[in-house]
Formats: sequence, structure tokens, C-alpha cells
Amino acid sequence: MDDLKYGTRNKRGDWAPNEPAGTAPLFTFPPRPLALLKWLPHYFLPYNLLFALSAVAWWHYVLPDVEVMKTLSVGWIVKLFLVNCAALLLFFGAFELRLYILRTQGNRFKYNGKWPSEQKSKAFFFENQNFDNMLRTFGTGMPIWTAIEVGILYAYANGYVPWLTFAEHPVYLFFLVLIAPVIHETHFFLLHRAIHWPPLYKLVHSVHHNSVNPSPWSSLSMHPVEQLGYLGVAFWHLIIPSNPLLALYQLHYAGFGAIPGHVGFDKVELGEDTAVDSHAYIHYLHHKYFEVNYGDGLIPFDKWFGTFHDGSKDGEARMQARYEKKKARANAAVK
Ligand SMILES: [Zn+2]
Ligand SMILES: [Zn+2]
Repeated sequence: MDDLKYGTRNKRGDWAPNEPAGTAPLFTFPPRPLALLKWLPHYFLPYNLLFALSAVAWWHYVLPDVEVMKTLSVGWIVKLFLVNCAALLLFFGAFELRLYILRTQGNRFKYNGKWPSEQKSKAFFFENQNFDNMLRTFGTGMPIWTAIEVGILYAYANGYVPWLTFAEHPVYLFFLVLIAPVIHETHFFLLHRAIHWPPLYKLVHSVHHNSVNPSPWSSLSMHPVEQLGYLGVAFWHLIIPSNPLLALYQLHYAGFGAIPGHVGFDKVELGEDTAVDSHAYIHYLHHKYFEVNYGDGLIPFDKWFGTFHDGSKDGEARMQARYEKKKARANAAVK
């Protein structure tokens, strides 16, 4: 595919789309019903459906009977951990292999002209982004992911929280399935905004931002505190009346779903003329400029709080104006 039909490449080799990044037409005012209808399939396809199906598959093929989950025994927990690791290795690894190792589509649609593997940085373990990212993902990320999962299943199995069944509460639970992405976006935005508070940023969130040029393994490469906070979105299903299957979906949505924002390419080519949009631009701009786009754009939080950057010249100017104001405020406070 000719990526220059869809965007431009600058002297440094960075590619940018012609169309400015937009937020979903879900909470816009005035409402845009036609845009909403056109967008609606994207709400389910391909990722949300995939993560919902993976939750069902885990429930049926990976997890033991509820009776077994009443006790914390090594057998089922280790099995769950290993399956989680293998699934993540396959899923994230597929993007890494195709786009970064085999480089099947070269640098077409690639936001950053450089390849992380060709740049050493002291910020990383062994000065290697991929090695550092994978070490954090499997060293702390997957144990935390599995611990959250085990905690939730243990609570449900022992009846510590109400377990609503699909037979008795079909409409309510279906509604919860539908709003899982909304729960995710709200949780993620609030957490993310909080860890950009300078003391927390330095202690916790800077680890994730070491990957200025993110690639698939950057997705869950975070400080353990952030991994707990981010994947902990599934704990909402212990607070609101729900079902363990939905908690699994919420967890998979966060864990496996971290990848689209970090893939580094605007489109992943499937054939000569077909490609899927990654919807990565909003979060790519966050990694590039830090103090914009705290959310992923499902809910226009950043527009409401004035921190949205759509990648255009106007967006750039708005960001600069905000930084100037911030600087002036800081200077005034010193005087
Ligand atoms: Zn990120
Ligand atoms: Zn951030």
C-alpha cells in the first residue's frame, strides 16, 4: 500500500496521517447519529469481540471447576499463569514478529522513522528497549495479572461477592458487557491522569514512558504499581454486582487490549490493498508529547479537560499555548 496517499513523511522519516485523530462519536454534543452508526461496528470489532471470546475460552478450557477455585492451590494457579504468559507471548509476539522482526510492511504507516532495536538507551535494562520491556511484562506484569485474576475467582468461588447468573439477569449482565470498555476508559483515564502528577510520575509512570518510540512489548512495560492499578480495573466487578466471566473480560480487555495503542503503525497491512486501522495515533502522541491524550478517545475526556492533541498543526498550537500558560503560572508562583 502507498502510505503517502494517507499521510506524509518528514525529513526524519516520521510518518503522520492526513486525517487528524478523532475521538469516538459516543458522547459528542450535539449528537451525531449517522457518525455513531458508522462507528458502531468498531466498538465490537475486532478487539472487543476477541477479548470477550477469549474470556469465554478461559472459563471453559483453562479454569478448573468452581469447587477447585475455592482453595488457593498451586496446580490451577500455575497452569493459569503459564497459559496467560503463553497467550500474551503469542498475541503480542505476532505483532512484534510481523512488524518489527520480519518488517513485512517496512516503514509504511510507521509513526516513528527509527526502530527501537537500533537505538540504545541508558533508560533500559541492558540499554535494550525490547529486552527491558519483555522483562517487565513477564517478570512483574504477568504475575500481577494472574494474581488479580486468582483473587477475583477466589472471591466469587467462596461467595464473598454476589454472583449474578446470565439465566437470572440477562439484560443487566448484557448491559455490563456493553459498557466494559466505558468502565475501562474511565478507570484508565483517572489512573493515568493521577500518575502524571509529578511525584508519582517520577516514582511510577516514568518507567512506561521510557519507551518514547513504543513497540508491541511496551504495552504492559510498566512499574509494578502501575501494572496493579491498570490491570486492577477488573476489581470493579467485585464492587458492582457482576459475574466472574465479565471480570475476566474486563481483565483481558485491559491486558491483551493494551497493544493497539503501542503498535507504532497507523495501519497493519493484511494484503495488497487491505489494512486494519490500529487506532494507535492518540496514544502514540501521548508517548511523544507526554502531557496530552491521557485517555484513548472512547470518551472525550481529554477534550473536556483541554488536553486533547489530534496530531494537527492546530493541535500542536493548542498544546504549546497550554504549556506557555503553565510556565507563566509556575513563574508567577515563584515570585
Ligand atoms: Zn503507553
Ligand atoms: Zn502517560
